[in-house]
Amino acid sequence: MQPSRRILIVEDERDIAEMVAYNLERGGHTPTISSDGQQGLQLALAEVPDLLLLDVMLPGLSGLEVCRQLRANPATAQVPILMLTARAEEADELVGLSVGADDYITKPFRMKVLLARVEALLRRAQPMPEDDGSAIVTLGLVSADQHLHAASVQGQPIRLTLTEFKLLVALMQSPKRVLSRADLIAQVMGPGIIVTARTIDVHIASIRKKLGPAGNQIRTHRGVGYQMTAEAEAVQVE
Ligand code: CA
Repeated sequence: MQPSRRILIVEDERDIAEMVAYNLERGGHTPTISSDGQQGLQLALAEVPDLLLLDVMLPGLSGLEVCRQLRANPATAQVPILMLTARAEEADELVGLSVGADDYITKPFRMKVLLARVEALLRRAQPMPEDDGSAIVTLGLVSADQHLHAASVQGQPIRLTLTEFKLLVALMQSPKRVLSRADLIAQVMGPGIIVTARTIDVHIASIRKKLGPAGNQIRTHRGVGYQMTAEAEAVQVE
């Protein structure tokens, strides 16, 4: 049996929140419900949960704003966040990712699907085993420490979400290969997780931005996928 995790559910639709909490509890976890964005944010900051389920449309403070504020705080920058969005809010889903959510799911969802996504995200949040001796990967200007979940560019720490970090490491570990979006989804999201290729593109765009001068080390192979190399692609600025 896996360890019990503290999961904060910030969702103002009471039926959904309670149904999710009930099922998480049955799965051995310890859920807490908040129906208000501002209160949810305070709860997450007061006691950092192992995972946050965050609705987009909330009274008080929107889920996107809650996400943004949690990401801006070092104590909660890495907390896994799974956003819940209404079906019609396709745009919000992508905005949700660019504010640093690790994953999202549209309502209405099947409970089994939600629980699988929660477990996948919790698994991803687990640090790598200590014994492989290859915790630190370096490529070009970028270093990533898989034990600490920390990345840096030229020694300067950068702040990545969990999903971004895993994607970066996957790319750094295969500099000779172009990884398709499907490869990246399989490696980073885990088996059986369905996300669109566009989700990967949004994550990659965010990683590039955060890498700053090393952003161009990630190359786009149109129609194929992504490759990370030791040298940044030439940029004509002098
Ligand atoms: Ca709502």
